[in-house]
Amino acid sequence: MNVEIITVGDELLLGYTVDTNSSYIARQLGAAGFTVRYKTSVGDSLDAMEEAFQLALKRSHIVIVTGGLGPTDDDLTKRAIVKVFKRNLIFHEEILEDLRIRFAKRGLEMPAINQNQALLPQAAEFFPNKYGSAVGICIAEHGRVFISLPGVPLEMQQILDDEVVPYLERLKLNSSIHVATLRTTGIFESALAEKIKPGLRLEPGVRLAYLPGFSGVDLRVMASAADPEEGAQKAGKLVDYLERTVGKYIYGRDSETLEAIIGQLLGDNDKTLGVAESCTAGQLGMIITSVPGSSRYFFGGVLAYANDVKVNQLGVSPELLNEQGAVSEECAVAMAQGCRSLLGTDYALSITGIAGPEGGSNEKPVGTSYIGLASAHAARARLFNFGTERHAIRARASYAALEMLRREILDIK
Ligand code: ATP
Ligand code: MG
Repeated sequence: MNVEIITVGDELLLGYTVDTNSSYIARQLGAAGFTVRYKTSVGDSLDAMEEAFQLALKRSHIVIVTGGLGPTDDDLTKRAIVKVFKRNLIFHEEILEDLRIRFAKRGLEMPAINQNQALLPQAAEFFPNKYGSAVGICIAEHGRVFISLPGVPLEMQQILDDEVVPYLERLKLNSSIHVATLRTTGIFESALAEKIKPGLRLEPGVRLAYLPGFSGVDLRVMASAADPEEGAQKAGKLVDYLERTVGKYIYGRDSETLEAIIGQLLGDNDKTLGVAESCTAGQLGMIITSVPGSSRYFFGGVLAYANDVKVNQLGVSPELLNEQGAVSEECAVAMAQGCRSLLGTDYALSITGIAGPEGGSNEKPVGTSYIGLASAHAARARLFNFGTERHAIRARASYAALEMLRREILDIK
């Protein structure tokens, strides 16, 4: 089933708001096995919206619209829906009551204008909105599904994840596309392909995609089949093959993150972690603590950007810094060891590198980074080159550090 995403708003066309809604929707629906064929953006104009909706309903099975659902005069989406589907607006007492309660809970009187939000096209279903006042609207007709969601990203995401994706998944239960994602890290896309290709035999209807990101390369397995069981079975065969050939690089499945996996490994083993960050200056700590409950295993870190901090806080010797430089294997090891004893953790990770654009040399070009790891048994560091772009270098270094710890804990060579 093909999907078309339509985002509504003048600010999108003027370039003042970046359209993150359509990429979020595309990602979530892609993971659920739907193919996005078209993305369209239209301004806050009734005619343009009407035209875009008509065209989308002609060429796509599922149309998802975001924006313009609010109660004010500039929010025209509902009016366009009414014109396209030729339906009346029906008043829903239960939606209004829910809105009144929400305003009352915050000690506010509901503005009269919000009454508009209890009006929905006839025979439409609605999806509740946990964070805002505009409910999602869903009209299914002539083999087409038309869904309209609010534009505010947080509200749109909540309704999409909690309501729309499950709804669409129920729809497609009969014809089946099975999707599985294996998440790898610590290996380039090309090297991964070299290992996978030689023994790879793809059955008809089965596809494999390589999706690189900062935290690693995702392997997306898609199998289409007449029924769900056959799809799952075909996908399962390819997943088994991938696990046999590149299993040591696979840290998780589907939406699992490296930082969450690290959290499980540390938590399950009652181990603790600290970090000493030079060029990433807190990014590694931020990624680790994006996992709820990370306080159980993460103690904290030293943001050792300047050499003085490396010396005074982490106990790196000034001679070492003079002789080897801050971006060196020796310094990374000393930072990790110093951090581990300062914080009293089981493990410590360190990152020191040249994030650029300045500061590179022939010997140590921009991107040169050392990641150190200290534990009760070991203290070592590894050299990496994370490319030439500052933002990417820092992100890749942070994930490479997590991967080094994963391999240490699981004893993967
Ligand atoms: P509201 O009830 O707040 O008026 P709405 O459904 O009418 O919601 P809009 O008025 O279109 O939505 O947009 C609300 C906010 O969401 C705006 O700040 C806008 O910048 C943001 N927004 C809208 N569409 C997108 C999009 N495609 N990507 C990212 N942000 C968006
Ligand atoms: Mg609005």
